Amino acid sequence: MYYRASSIVLLILCLNIFWGVKPVNYTLYALIAAWTAVSLRGMTSMRSQVFGRVYWRGESAPTPAPPPRVGRGVTGAVALTFDDGPSEPFTGRVLDTLKAHGVKATFFVIGENVRKAPELAKRIVAEGHELGNHSQTHPWVFKMLFRTISEDIEQCQREIEKAAGYRPRFFRQPVGLNNPSVMKVLDGMGMVMVGWQARAYDGFRVKKEEVVSRILGSVRPGGIILLHDGCDGVMGCDRTPTIEALDEIIPALKAKGYEFRTVSGLVGVENRQG
Ligand SMILES: [Zn+2]
Repeated sequence: MYYRASSIVLLILCLNIFWGVKPVNYTLYALIAAWTAVSLRGMTSMRSQVFGRVYWRGESAPTPAPPPRVGRGVTGAVALTFDDGPSEPFTGRVLDTLKAHGVKATFFVIGENVRKAPELAKRIVAEGHELGNHSQTHPWVFKMLFRTISEDIEQCQREIEKAAGYRPRFFRQPVGLNNPSVMKVLDGMGMVMVGWQARAYDGFRVKKEEVVSRILGSVRPGGIILLHDGCDGVMGCDRTPTIEALDEIIPALKAKGYEFRTVSGLVGVENRQG
């Protein structure tokens, strides 16, 4: 659909520029404005389905498992996800916290970090959590060419397979900017894009209270929650506020009737390939 819309806009522009064909000007401007708005939304929102399916909540699954009925009649499963690890001491502390609360989560790891700490990736899987691909070096995939994107994702797949014994189907875009090329690469590799519904902006310098209030204030039933257990090398590296916030977020959501699932459990898509 996106490609068809892009072709129509380009065709009208070419007719107009090269052959002087003048459609009703307002129609032309309206089409270009709509196309620009849709493209910008697709690039900047990890909920947008413009470039292809992005899993950002349970309901977007093709065959969702029936969600539990909880609380005041709301359905309440959510998935905790952690980006940019594995990195000590934070990933270990996140795992300890999840274990203490009996919660399983999904970790979108950077291939370089897995290479440096394969034992952490193994521990994540051994304790019943999922691993997803978050690129090899956390580059601005958004700006990369088709071939470089697939090489980068494949390198991370190999690191994960070496450490944990399987190739994940889930990919999360570094920096959270999407484009049609990445979606095409993922399609060719049998992978899918995972976005998020709620986030705490904890990749930046934040206080524990901010992480707690941002998540509790924005999470909705079926939501995928984005948090960070590692660093991308740019935005600072202390994940203590996130870890301390988890100790409040998990009991608070449980008290509201939410249950915690991995991303595959939430969206109904198998993460392990092959
Ligand atoms: Zn990241």
